[in-house]
Amino acid sequence: MLYFCRMLEDKNQSKTALSSLGEFGLIEHLTTQFKINNKSTITGIGDDAAILNFKGESVVVTTDFLVEGVHFDLSYMPLKHLGYKAVVVNLSDVYAMNAKASQITVSIAVSNRFTLEAMEALYQGIQTAAKTYGVDVVGGDTTSSISGLTLSVSAIGHVKASKVVKRNGAKSNDLLVISGDIGAAYLGLQVLEREKEVFKVNPKNQPELERYSYIIERQLKPEARKDIVTLLNDLKVQPTSMIDISDGLSSEVIHLCKQSGVGCDLYEEKIPLDPQVISTCEEFNIDSTTIALSGGEDYELLMTISQADYPKIKGNPNLTVIGHMTEKASGIHLVTRAQEKIPLVAQGWNGFKS
Ligand code: ADP
Ligand code: MG
Repeated sequence: MLYFCRMLEDKNQSKTALSSLGEFGLIEHLTTQFKINNKSTITGIGDDAAILNFKGESVVVTTDFLVEGVHFDLSYMPLKHLGYKAVVVNLSDVYAMNAKASQITVSIAVSNRFTLEAMEALYQGIQTAAKTYGVDVVGGDTTSSISGLTLSVSAIGHVKASKVVKRNGAKSNDLLVISGDIGAAYLGLQVLEREKEVFKVNPKNQPELERYSYIIERQLKPEARKDIVTLLNDLKVQPTSMIDISDGLSSEVIHLCKQSGVGCDLYEEKIPLDPQVISTCEEFNIDSTTIALSGGEDYELLMTISQADYPKIKGNPNLTVIGHMTEKASGIHLVTRAQEKIPLVAQGWNGFKS
């Protein structure tokens, strides 16, 4: 069950100042729990650098930053979930290359507002994600910050060179395919923001969030689609291009089109939405297609496949065909339920916008 965490977490627990451990003590405390499970990890935490060996495969590397107040709000994001999510969003980028994730590094900058117990909660989430996805934590960095918490995770993965899938391989007539359903994470955030405002006015009022369980879970505890990489491999489908949906469907479709030099027709009626997304959109009086196109943080995989591969994915509940690629000159369009064609625009997420 979710609750407004900082207010609750801070009560009734003894707290240990980070200064009582010092940097090396903290690193050791947080990292002793990490064991090595991947063959490609030769040396993990403890030396000046980790040593990895991938035996001739291509190595993919990706990194992300999470800044308190910009990317997360600790008044409704429990630290354990934050740790989990920080790992997941990185692994999602590895899977988007059609690669297997094998190692991560974790760097934190933390102010003295945080206690050892808070850092333990963060690392519990990191460890749970590492275990769930089978990756080794092989290093990181720890430093102090003058305000708040900053967290950066890097992920390393590997894949046979011929199996790497980039953003730039889509061809005209390829099918546009998406995993899972979208829009939920953004709506979950809207519900949490709304409840936070209610909570500010009346702290005794614990929010009723049961009927938003799916969309809130998609916001607070997203999963990366490791299973889709396995599924595609099992089905012998090699996507021609792929990207993970972090900024919103329209933004990602445009990335694939621009980098591949193609156009696209995306069908509104095909976009997979969870019933809770539809009902919450009705409640908030917002258009579910707008949310699906611009919401973001879905961490689903968006890919193009050749038409010849269609029979292999047909009827699979994890994959939905939502459109097809066209010649570049045709442009990038949404085909509405009324069969109108409107140009797709990327709202995307822009942290530098005021
Ligand atoms: P250096 O001075 O060489 O950067 P550190 O003392 O920062 O070494 O780190 C010691 C070891 O602990 C290294 O292996 C480093 O990768 C790892 N490490 C440091 N901070 C973290 C962290 N927050 N999470 C995981 N591993 C860490
Ligand atoms: Mg260091």
